[in-house]
Amino acid sequence: MLYEISEKAIQLENQGKEMIKFNLGDPDLPTPPEIVEAAYEAMKQGKTKYSSAAGEKKLREELARIHGVSVDNVVVTTGSKWAIFSLLFLLLKRGENVVVPSPHWTSYELAAKKIGAEIRFLRRDLESDWKVDAEKLEALIDDKTRLIILNSPNNPTSKVIDDKTFSEIVQIAKSKGVTVLSDEVYSDISFVKAKSILDFGADNILVTGFSKSFLMTGWRIGYVVVEKELATRMIKLNQITTTCVPAFIQYGALKGLESRKKIADDIRRQFKVRADAAYSVLSKSKMRFSRPDAPFYLFPKVDGLDSERFALDLLDKGVAVAPGTAFGDYREYVRIALTVNEEKIREGLEKLCEALP
Ligand code: PMP
Repeated sequence: MLYEISEKAIQLENQGKEMIKFNLGDPDLPTPPEIVEAAYEAMKQGKTKYSSAAGEKKLREELARIHGVSVDNVVVTTGSKWAIFSLLFLLLKRGENVVVPSPHWTSYELAAKKIGAEIRFLRRDLESDWKVDAEKLEALIDDKTRLIILNSPNNPTSKVIDDKTFSEIVQIAKSKGVTVLSDEVYSDISFVKAKSILDFGADNILVTGFSKSFLMTGWRIGYVVVEKELATRMIKLNQITTTCVPAFIQYGALKGLESRKKIADDIRRQFKVRADAAYSVLSKSKMRFSRPDAPFYLFPKVDGLDSERFALDLLDKGVAVAPGTAFGDYREYVRIALTVNEEKIREGLEKLCEALP
């Protein structure tokens, strides 16, 4: 359905209709110019050949320094999406299962299914402010569970898992011999402090990337921090699939790391204005939602809404949103990505509110 909405929005644009697109998590802000320059410079210097399947040494060293781990624990990947697919592929066998708090980013589900693994969802609700119930999560674990995937801040709710719950989940995983895969792609730009899986020791997995926190979605670069043996298996998988992330892209990313804090602060500041604008429009409507802990997404609810029908009809009004069903069993919700400017946010959300049944 996400794909259908996205294609229809493009079709309408091609027919000359102006669309306000809240449907994709692809920020409109450009990649910082120093990153573009550094990548171009690297290309001019001949960094255009095959390179290491583990990632460029300099980039791995810098990432290792930032996270306080050894270089051997860092693998650079073709976006964090490929990192996640690789990890599921390497860690899950057919018939085994992975536990994921829902609503969730669709790719976890699609990747697990592709591999023949079962995915078990822990339902969360707006009414309990999207809290993860650690006891209920524990109840979903059995002897076939290999992984728990956490995503904090979360796509689509933009909520952060509180420290106590995060710690409880890590303890539960440890006691059951299950690994936590923590997808932290929105962490650096979070409005509130979000715990990292690395705060709880080294036996779990961090997946993150440059797409969101450096505005580099199209560059396709992410990375993992994992224990050495798994890192080696991931590198081997890179060798037989993607080969490497182009070296010049890695040099762009390396440059970005120099101003990591400034870039994240800029994104946060601009998106805070957007989130506040969205909040002021939506809070006058009958939509109910929780204040976001991170940029990019709002996930409001309208009782009784059929979000698939609504999202399709809304396209004719020039607004694209993602139906809640794309993120699990959440038909009464829509996901609004604040990836357009403030003026468009106000205009688009006014139209959306008018169209509510
Ligand atoms: N994790 C989450 C939760 C996401 O929302 C996304 C992108 N929408 C990704 C991972 C993938 O990001 P990328 O592959 O661009 O690093």
